[in-house]
Parts: sequence; structure tokens; C-alpha cells
Amino acid sequence: MTLWIATRNRHKVEEIAGILGPAYDLKSLLDRPEIPDVEEDGATYRENARKKARALWEQVKVPVFADDSGLEVDALGGRPGVHSMRYSAPEPTHAKNIAKLLGELQGIPLLERTARFRCTVVHLDAEGQEQVFEGVLEGVIGFEIQGEGGFGFDPVFVLPERGLTVAQLSAEEKNQISHRGRAVTALRRYLQQHSGGR
Ligand code: IMP
Repeated sequence: MTLWIATRNRHKVEEIAGILGPAYDLKSLLDRPEIPDVEEDGATYRENARKKARALWEQVKVPVFADDSGLEVDALGGRPGVHSMRYSAPEPTHAKNIAKLLGELQGIPLLERTARFRCTVVHLDAEGQEQVFEGVLEGVIGFEIQGEGGFGFDPVFVLPERGLTVAQLSAEEKNQISHRGRAVTALRRYLQQHSGGR
């Protein structure tokens, strides 16, 4: 089954293709360079995901989905949340985001460094009807960078029960437990139920 995802993030396309498995031919905005990016200015993950999905659906009018995700740190009142990508604006990078996060959490003990990744997926079917799926991954923010896998905040996001950061997991292990893995798996189950068990 062909499914479109409204992103130009190659890493995300690969991660999600791995979660969906070979039954899905995943196409993305990388296949349609002429479609403009939408501004992710919504107040919630859901608003942003909906906006991205809707803009692509208007172009292709076949089933599409988009995800939006972020890191919520309890000691920072849930920041950076929906603004995670732009946390170290004006010219944010993953490395700068991590450096800023470790700086803001300086002096805060491990027990108070609880955080979660949250992901919302909005799927629009061929008629443009919306379905929403969510996933959460709980953890704590460590004190230093560990691991080379994943992206974003993965090198400082520690899974307490494993004693590892998400960046120290294999791609398969991350997909099994991650916020995005859970949300996209829920989407896959929905699609299987609504397409004759494919
Ligand atoms: P996006 O909206 O899904 O592209 O995610 C926004 C930002 O949230 C990313 O740029 C990262 O900073 C953070 N983030 C989301 N998902 C992950 C993840 O799986 N690992 C690490 N950081 C993530």
C-alpha cells in the first residue's frame, strides 16, 4: 500500500518506514520538491500534524499522514514541548538544543530530571477524514551525551530501567518503545483493520 508522509526529514522517513514495515511504500515530500513547507506554528502537536497532513492531502488526495513530536521536561514546566525543534533558535541545531537543555538543568538532581517524548500522528484517508494516534516515551535527562544513534535529544534521554540513552539503542529497539514507534504502530493497526488485513 502506498502511503504519503508530510515531511522532508530523511531520518524521520527512514525511521517511520522501519516501523511500518515492507508492506507500505512510503512516499514523502522528498518525492515532491515543488510542494512548499508549511509553518509549524500551532499551539499543539496535533495542530501542527494536522496542518502538515492537510497541506499534503490537498495536493495528492490519497491517504497521507504527518507527525509532530517534542520533548517535555518537568523541571522546565513542560518545555521545550511543541517548540523542541526551535529550542535553540535563531539557528537551532540538535547539538545546540542539547547544550541549552543541559545548561538549563544544571544543578538539578536526577530524580527531578523526568521528561517524556510525545508524538501525535494525524492520518487523513482518501476522503480527507481525520484519525489521530499518540505515543509517549518516559525517561530522564542525563548529565552528559551518550551514544551515537537516533537524532535530536536522544543522546541525553535516559531510559532509567535500561540505564541507557535512546541514542545507545539499535534502530529496531528504539522503534519498539519510542513515542513515534507507538503512534505509528497504532496507525499501522488502524490501516490493517481498514484495508482488508494487509
Ligand atoms: P518533529 O516535530 O517530530 O520533527 O520533532 C521536533 C523536535 O523534537 C526534534 O527536532 C527533536 O528536537 C525533538 N524530538 C522529536 N522526536 C525525537 C526523537 O525521537 N528523539 C530525539 N528528539 C526528538
